[in-house]
Amino acid sequence: MAEELSARELQHLLSELIFLKPQKIIITGGEPLMRQDIFDLFDKFRKVPGSKKIHLCLMSNGILVDRKAASKIAGLFDEVRISVDGLPEINDILRGNGSFEGALIAIKNLKNAGISPGVSITVNSLNLPGLGDFLSYLIDELLITNFHLSMIKSFGASLNHPEFFCSIDKAGKVIEDFWQNRFGKFNLPVNRSRPALAGGWNCGLGSHINILPDGSVYPCHILSIPEFLLGNIRKERIGKIVSGQDKLAYLRSINFSELIESDNSLKDIFKRGTCFGEVCRKEPGLLKKYKF
Ligand code: SF4
Repeated sequence: MAEELSARELQHLLSELIFLKPQKIIITGGEPLMRQDIFDLFDKFRKVPGSKKIHLCLMSNGILVDRKAASKIAGLFDEVRISVDGLPEINDILRGNGSFEGALIAIKNLKNAGISPGVSITVNSLNLPGLGDFLSYLIDELLITNFHLSMIKSFGASLNHPEFFCSIDKAGKVIEDFWQNRFGKFNLPVNRSRPALAGGWNCGLGSHINILPDGSVYPCHILSIPEFLLGNIRKERIGKIVSGQDKLAYLRSINFSELIESDNSLKDIFKRGTCFGEVCRKEPGLLKKYKF
C-alpha cells in the first residue's frame, strides 16, 4: 500500500469532514493507536467549531490502552470499542497470546478514566460454541452491556482460514437462545429506513464511506476494491469526491429484495444475512451484469 497520510494531510481531511456533517466517524485499523500522533490529531479536531456534534468512535485491540492513553481517549472520543473474540483460550488463538489480558487491562483503564467501553466480537466457527458463556462473562463480570457482533467476512486475513467461516443461521440461533434464556424474549430491532438485504438484513451501502490510510475512498470496507474506488483525498477534496457521486447514489438506490425477485440466479447467492460486498468480491460477473 502507498504511504500513509501524514499528520498534516489527516488534519486537513478531518477539518473538511466537518463540512459534510457526518453523524459518526469510526477510527479503526489495523490498530489506530499505533499512530503516535493520533491524540494530537483529534485534540486539534475537537477544537474546530462543529466537531463536537460528530460522534467519534475509536476501535482498538486495547493493547496500547494504558492509564495515560485511557484518560486521553475518555477526553476525546464519545465511544470506544475493544475487540475481543471470546474467553482467553479462544481469544488468544484468534488474536495472539496475551491479547485477552491486554484487552482486560484496557477495559479497566477506560472505566477508571470515566468511559464505558463496548466490545466488538467477530463471530466465527471457533468462538461460536462458547459465545453465550462469553457474553455472560462480559455482562456479569465486566458489567459490559454494549457489544457489537459481526460475522467473519471472506476478505483479508480470514481468507487464509476458511475453517473459521460459519453460517449466519447457526450464529443467529446461538445468539437468540442466549438472549431468550437470559432475558426471556428476543426482539431484534431492524432499521427499515432503506431496502433490506435478503431476509431483512440491512446494508448501509451508499450512506457511508471508508477512507484507507493511503487516502483512497471507497463505499465500505468490504468494497475497498478497484471497481469501487471513489477517489483519493491526495488528488481531490473529500467534499468533491463524495458530492454528486453517481456510484454512491446508485448503491443507495438498490432494492435488494426487488433485485433478487427479478433474477432467479441471485436467489442462491443472496441468502439471509448476505453481505452484498462479499458477493461482489466472490462473483465478479455480477459487477458487470448490474454495472455496480
Ligand atoms: S456491503 Fe457488506 S460490509 Fe458493506 S455495508 Fe453492505 S453489508 Fe456492510
